[in-house]
Amino acid sequence: MKRRKFIKLTGALAGGAVASPALLSGCGAQPPKPGSGEVKSTPTVCAICFWKCAGFVHTEDGQPWKITGNPEDLHSRGRLCTRGSGGMGAYLDRDRLKKPLIRVTEGGEQKFKEVSWDEALNYVADGLKKIADQYGPDRVAVFAQGAPGSHFKHLMKAYGTGSFGPPDYAQCRAARDLAFHLTYGKTVSSPEPTDMANSRCIVLIGTHIGENLHNGQVSTFAQAIDKRATIIAVDPRFSVAAGKAKYWLPIKPGTDMALLLAWTNVLITESLYDKDYVARYTHGFDALAEHIKSYTPEWAYLETGIEPELIRRTARVMAGHAPATLVHPGRHVAWYGDDTQRSRAIAILNALLGTWGRPGGFYIPETVKLPKYPLPKYPKPASTFRVAHEGKYPLAYNGVSNALIEHSIGPDAHYKGWVVCEANLPLAVPGMTEKMQQAADSLDLNVVIDTMPMEVTGYADVVLPECTYLERYDDLRNAQEEAPSLALRMPAFEPKYDSKPGWWIARELGLRLGLAQYFPWKDYSEVLDWQLKQVGSSLEEMQKIGVKNFPRKTAKYIAQGQEYRFPTPTGKIELYSTRLEKAGFDPLPRYTAPQEGPPGYYRLIYGRAPAHTFGRTSNNPLLFELMTENALWVNPLAASQWNLSSGDYVRLRNQDGVMSNRVRVRVTERIRPDSVFMAHGFGHTSKQLRLARDVGASDADLITNLLMDPIMGATGMRSNFVTFIQEEA
Ligand code: SF4
Repeated sequence: MKRRKFIKLTGALAGGAVASPALLSGCGAQPPKPGSGEVKSTPTVCAICFWKCAGFVHTEDGQPWKITGNPEDLHSRGRLCTRGSGGMGAYLDRDRLKKPLIRVTEGGEQKFKEVSWDEALNYVADGLKKIADQYGPDRVAVFAQGAPGSHFKHLMKAYGTGSFGPPDYAQCRAARDLAFHLTYGKTVSSPEPTDMANSRCIVLIGTHIGENLHNGQVSTFAQAIDKRATIIAVDPRFSVAAGKAKYWLPIKPGTDMALLLAWTNVLITESLYDKDYVARYTHGFDALAEHIKSYTPEWAYLETGIEPELIRRTARVMAGHAPATLVHPGRHVAWYGDDTQRSRAIAILNALLGTWGRPGGFYIPETVKLPKYPLPKYPKPASTFRVAHEGKYPLAYNGVSNALIEHSIGPDAHYKGWVVCEANLPLAVPGMTEKMQQAADSLDLNVVIDTMPMEVTGYADVVLPECTYLERYDDLRNAQEEAPSLALRMPAFEPKYDSKPGWWIARELGLRLGLAQYFPWKDYSEVLDWQLKQVGSSLEEMQKIGVKNFPRKTAKYIAQGQEYRFPTPTGKIELYSTRLEKAGFDPLPRYTAPQEGPPGYYRLIYGRAPAHTFGRTSNNPLLFELMTENALWVNPLAASQWNLSSGDYVRLRNQDGVMSNRVRVRVTERIRPDSVFMAHGFGHTSKQLRLARDVGASDADLITNLLMDPIMGATGMRSNFVTFIQEEA
């Protein structure tokens, strides 16, 4: 077992470069130029969040100028959000990883040493070969996200691993995707095929459209508001979306399932559901009707705090606008440990309203049929992530990050190596700080690929600096959409410093591992050109236009009365889930009351801020200027009890005694008295993030009570409670 000291990169480089004092004096970003020189525009696909809006990077005399939306892009409606417009900051960030680094011990102290790419790649390939020889290639776990993550998934599948645990699986939207798959035989995936532009009524359950800026989604939501759609926002917090709502239901946190079941009760007992749709397309209605009899609005009132009359009225409003009513599936849904079942309740409600495949509900998305570049089959791994699940989470379709981390601890641990790409595990996987260190002490090899010195790099043996999305090719965007389209991301700049594209790093490792047959191209542009030529385009064409729209080949909606087979075991929308029953789970969703916090503690709710994408953009100099730190929302009742005022700084202590960084108080009526709220992604500790370090508090540090979804392993994070520790003035 190796003992790996967490290395804070600044000052820990063995013989490494020190930042220029000039850069230290400012944020490091160059101001945009006025646009009077020679301007060149290069297609891109934004990677600041996962929505993938297409745009153009404009340079002037080869220098960065600005990024704008591609007007032909229906997916983004031709626009970029604030963060996407600030994407140049990712390229300009003075704190980027600049050289490959290897952990060395000098004078008894562990440091990172700058090395050549050859040295770093040989080190990684040798380490992977040793693990494969000694234990088998399946004993490496991969935490890879985003576009570069796909290159490392390809590499590691070719190598022979079967354990992939991207944090965006268990920590984000997978419970929702599984729930819709169990119900309709199809996931909602991303972008969600919500037909909000045509909705007459939109129901948001803790969904923060407007703070979570996904372009297409925000613009169709805005279209619905312009057309006076009725918005029903269920949220303990008066969110931006709640501000647009006719009905704001400030629900007691953790009781959303009770409200969903009571709405279902009203739709059925008042005979408000779509009878033709239910009879034609669904399975298990009678069992559902029997099941929800006791979930009355009066019962739900005692759980949720929402008046029975308001529950009835909002259910009638939904039914009145159906099928142009969308009960939004949400996105980050890993909340209370019953997340698959809660998302099932949302899916069932939509089915009763007849919204799936209907205008104003969910449209049927279409992608371009883009052939895969011909490559050999991957070897069958000797084991998969299921080893780490120990028989739990039978319907998981990916590895649960927490479980993979836990199975990397100790001399007999299953996993002996990690490949981590664009996954900042300490912030993305809450409650694992100690286990991260224990795992790092145990692993034979820990490789991190990233653009920035995120906290996860401190645990690595080798850090490989990846260039930003503005400096590389990635896979074509072929998103499920109303209208199929392809979009190209290509380099607008040569990679800065000694950084390299993800595809290049993966290929170089592949060649060193004897996997050349999986990388038969020299440059990834060859793969893209081949694929584009299969669908009547070419790289040359896409380098000019960036986005190519294709005509739909299938119907966007299910026609009234149309025979339609859903890809479920019964061929119907499964109100009663035969797959859940077979796997030993409740085939119909049930309510479990939430955990309560200790006296004097407040439930911690976290969410998004429009200027940032999680912790990935906190150090982006252009976005940092828009929002430097997060604030803690505190209700005036709680504030007066603790003698807190807006602008005060406090620390928080959670139910397990974990303390936060200091965070600024914002006293507001927009949060329930029993809860506090902060935006996620702040409170970085990596010293090399010179703007973002020690600014604001990290919700992830305070989330130590995790409620695991028994069906698929979603890591429920909303059962944590905090109290205030006042800062000395
Ligand atoms: Fe980029 Fe904003 Fe689009 Fe996300 S929504 S991809 S950050 S422009």
